[in-house]
Amino acid sequence: MKEFDLIGRYFHSGGHQRKDVIVGIGDDCAVTQIPENQQLAVTTDTLIGGVHFLMDAPAKSVAYKAVAVNLSDLAAMGAEPAWISLSLSLPEVESAWLEDFVSGLYELTRFYSVQLIGGDTVRGPLAMTITAQGFIPPGTQLRRDQAKPGDWVYVTGSLGDAGAGLDILKGEIDASGEAREFLIKRHLYPTPRVAAGTSLRRIANACIDVSDGLLADLSHILTTSKCGATIHVDRLPLSRGMKETVTDEQAIAYALSAGDDYELIFTVSEEQKGNLETSLSSTNVKATCIGQLTGNTGQIDLKHNDQRYHLPEQFGFEHQF
Ligand code: ADP
Ligand code: MG
Repeated sequence: MKEFDLIGRYFHSGGHQRKDVIVGIGDDCAVTQIPENQQLAVTTDTLIGGVHFLMDAPAKSVAYKAVAVNLSDLAAMGAEPAWISLSLSLPEVESAWLEDFVSGLYELTRFYSVQLIGGDTVRGPLAMTITAQGFIPPGTQLRRDQAKPGDWVYVTGSLGDAGAGLDILKGEIDASGEAREFLIKRHLYPTPRVAAGTSLRRIANACIDVSDGLLADLSHILTTSKCGATIHVDRLPLSRGMKETVTDEQAIAYALSAGDDYELIFTVSEEQKGNLETSLSSTNVKATCIGQLTGNTGQIDLKHNDQRYHLPEQFGFEHQF
């Protein structure tokens, strides 16, 4: 397929170039150098058109998001991103779409000094799989299963924005002006918390990124770490755009249940709280303490001003605890 050969070359030029890439795009394999005294973290995520992004989403956003979700997984592990590869399935070759796609891809890779080192291109339904690789000093990876009862629970940034942005695009909620723009941008162009992730090494006991929603992703920490949690919904970090757009109750529901924010949830022992502040202050990322871990394995107790809080059923998240 000649046109698809061209695509391989499309990704050949431009993008960030790293010294540790010995052979990049263009050969049968890429060859890279792992730094001494570092271990490799590897993650893969697939995005399918119509499933993980709207079919009419801007190509730039599709590529941006595909890279961001992978860098977010590295961040949640405390890894410093280095290389990505891209397997791309396209129904047809549209050069304008591809140019936009490549611009979104390279915007993020340049920002994080990540190099695209290879991939594959096939004709098929619109979909892409990215594999990202990064480095971690031995023993410093941030796992899901090392949280301890008594740890404080934190989240970076604000929660629920991406879900609200998606609902705006689908016409399910109304928003205007800056709030509308902000929420849609949070859906289309998520920010992987790379610097925050590496700054949590040796400080956080457990960490995960928010892809499926706070309750769903926190529950992964709770089940693997055999803990429970008390979460104060009045302490959830909500953006101004969110507060201007929906009621408080809806905002809390988005923050608890909506996915695709790619913020980090992490837990920190009482002893490490001071170090956390120092370490995060160099990253420009705000983290908010939203609760504390308990010994009740798998159970999440929601509180609002210290009273029991029930997530209204129409907001959909049925959690199994
Ligand atoms: P092969 O037949 O050896 O798999 P391809 O024609 O598929 O080679 O790819 C040629 C080169 O272009 C390879 O180095 C491959 O890694 C790269 N490549 C192909 N598609 C992509 C893509 N979507 N993104 C990045 N690199 C790609
Ligand atoms: Mg190939």
